[in-house]
Amino acid sequence: MNTEPLPRFEDVYSAAIHGVSDEGSLHSHAIPIYATSTFVFDSAEQGMNRFAGSEPGYIYSRFANPTTAAAERLIASLEAFGLNDAHSSPLQLKALLHASGQGALSTLCFSLLNNGDQVLTNTALYGGTHEFFAYLLPKSGIQTHFTDLSDLHAVDQALKQHPAIKLIHIETPTNPLMGCTDIEAICKLAATYGIKVSIDNTFATPYLQQPFAFGVDFVYHSTTKFLNGHGTAIGGVLLGKDLDFMNTTATKTFKLLGANSNAFDAFLLINGIKTLPLRMQRHSANAQQVAAWLDEHPAVAKVNYNGLSTHPDHALSARQMRAPGAVLSFELKGGLEAGKHFINRLRMCTRAVSLGTVDTLISHPASMSHAIMKPEERLKAGITDGLIRMSVGIEAVEDILADLKQALSDGSR
Ligand SMILES: *Cc1c(COP(=O)(O)O)cnc(C)c1O
Repeated sequence: MNTEPLPRFEDVYSAAIHGVSDEGSLHSHAIPIYATSTFVFDSAEQGMNRFAGSEPGYIYSRFANPTTAAAERLIASLEAFGLNDAHSSPLQLKALLHASGQGALSTLCFSLLNNGDQVLTNTALYGGTHEFFAYLLPKSGIQTHFTDLSDLHAVDQALKQHPAIKLIHIETPTNPLMGCTDIEAICKLAATYGIKVSIDNTFATPYLQQPFAFGVDFVYHSTTKFLNGHGTAIGGVLLGKDLDFMNTTATKTFKLLGANSNAFDAFLLINGIKTLPLRMQRHSANAQQVAAWLDEHPAVAKVNYNGLSTHPDHALSARQMRAPGAVLSFELKGGLEAGKHFINRLRMCTRAVSLGTVDTLISHPASMSHAIMKPEERLKAGITDGLIRMSVGIEAVEDILADLKQALSDGSR
């Protein structure tokens, strides 16, 4: 395996493009799709040595595969870009590529936590993450406390009160109100208690936010979103800076859970990542203009975007993110009916859940992703009936605004 350190690129643009090369002997320019379940040994001894870990090389694609490994190295190089470790050497990270973001969360929790351990996390979370903590982990005797992580006093109280808490899990910015958590402040507090911190960096991507710079122990992404960028595959990645833990306990858990990705999805992911910096800049610039335009529209009651100076976490977001990102939500004055009407009138923007694709995706949480929730639970999570969620794409912003304008034209009744 090629374990040579990467050159120190001037800018992350170059790292996204030149971050990985093929390990094979044919000098393939693109990373090949190694569509194989297993790998051939030269001899019985070689097979033995590979299993024993005394000789590098691939064994079986649930354990590792050259295409997924290339995607892992690429994402690790982006999350670590320009950062140093405690000894002032370039930060080394280990990444594990998963079948989904949920798969990456599974490896994180089942490798780090034991029966009786507890988790502290935010009240506002991605739906699947919330259910994972609230429904699945208790089956293994792991309880989760949900609190407002922006209230540091409450976090401190919870840590004092519950010594079984072993992990603080952050998601910032959060869906759909784009609330942000102070990553550095949480890491400092966690360190005084000797507690690990993990973060879901899906909305920001390593281009907009590098949580290892603020002291987190683990980062994970749903690569389904901006990292892939084109909506062509479900995927997830878990990254850690404790290489020993990542190479032993986390890798063992990863293999046993069977939540590995595959060569084809990894190929699509690598292709997508080459334009990540370019896309994220354009996504953010477009979102900023769309948010400002919506903020002035008479049919819109409120815009939730961390790039607006009126957003409660505007300053925090500016401090820990390179730009505010692509996702925003807004509330229509006309409620549920106005929401449906608006969604039905869209002509260019795509009616779909998910986010992070090159095209603008628009969804109506109250009638779609959050329809199964009780209305009062929805309201508690900030999801009003007239709330619209947008993942602003990289089309010409004039075309996005024109579509919104015509869709809103009589949608405010
Ligand atoms: C989509 C998403 C996930 C889950 O990822 P999957 O790839 O669907 O498993 C987790 N967190 C956030 C913030 C997401 O947007």
